[in-house]
Amino acid sequence: MKKHNFSAGPCILPQEVMQKASEAVLELDGIGLSLIEISHRSKEFVDIMEKARSLALELLGLEGKGYQALFLQGGASTQFLMAAYNMLENKAGYVNTGTWSLKAIKEARLFGDVVEVASSQDHNFNYIPRGYGIPNDLDYLHLTSNNTIFGTQIKEFPKTDVPLVCDMSSDIFSRQLDFSKFDIFYAGAQKNMGPAGTTLVVIREEALGKVTRKIPSMLDYSVHISKDSMFNTPPVFAVYVSMLTMQWLKDLGGIAAIEEINEKKANLIYSEIDLNPVFSGFAAKKDRSNMNATFTITDETLKDIFDEKCKEAGINGINGHRSVGGYRASMYNALSLESVGVLVDIMSEMEKKG
Ligand code: PMP
Repeated sequence: MKKHNFSAGPCILPQEVMQKASEAVLELDGIGLSLIEISHRSKEFVDIMEKARSLALELLGLEGKGYQALFLQGGASTQFLMAAYNMLENKAGYVNTGTWSLKAIKEARLFGDVVEVASSQDHNFNYIPRGYGIPNDLDYLHLTSNNTIFGTQIKEFPKTDVPLVCDMSSDIFSRQLDFSKFDIFYAGAQKNMGPAGTTLVVIREEALGKVTRKIPSMLDYSVHISKDSMFNTPPVFAVYVSMLTMQWLKDLGGIAAIEEINEKKANLIYSEIDLNPVFSGFAAKKDRSNMNATFTITDETLKDIFDEKCKEAGINGINGHRSVGGYRASMYNALSLESVGVLVDIMSEMEKKG
């Protein structure tokens, strides 16, 4: 039985994408060769990379707007340093909304002054800071759009003339945003886009070329752009599956269509959390993530029963991260409303037992 996969990442991908991906590992589109044994310089793979890059810009509404999409390696963690390497000349601002922001801050400090313009560390990152000042002499302001571990999500981005850089690892392609507000944003594939192994980086070309330091080729966005995201051997399987997932999303109606489904899933679980005294939400209500719902059980005597019921129903991956505890239900694009319904039914059964 296929489980209901609430894993935080790597996570559920559309079943039809996995089917097609596994077929391509055996033979790509009837060419008598596997996807993973052909040259990345072959026409077949060059077409895949081109399609992946153009689908990304199309879905994000950035085609013809001076942006480039790259599929790089090293995870979002490499982007923590690469963004700073390419963009930080003097001073950058960071909004600290949790573990991943802190890691980004640590890397950026290797390259220049880093000001923490706001932080929600005082309440174990259960909210998104608001109303903070943004110095206008920053090279950029770095944000984390969705905090995977704490289950908070930025709903309104700061209005500023300072260039915005954003880690969108855990909510890319999940909701409509004006992506042209950002100079650079990046996302590890392994949530809404594909398997681990590649990272989508979207760059406004005019934002580059403003630092004076020398940048090693592999860490230089301009080099990757000039080589059409093929400066070295790309992670062919991860790029292919990402391309399939983006095509799946496009066929579904794009980000607008999935956003509607994501809202339904989030409303379903959060209304249960709010109505059911056995559970308590972790994140501040107005900052709740539509991707990762974090909650605890208020009646510890019911924990074993709840865990057992979830196991019986084939629910996978809802244990909270150790820095929050409790539970985390990750509801990425490919998770169905039905799966959330199965979890919510078990939660409501707990109330009757309590
Ligand atoms: N940023 C966020 C918001 C994440 O959720 C993660 C991974 N869970 C990362 C960065 C790190 O990504 P990677 O493992 O691809 O380096």
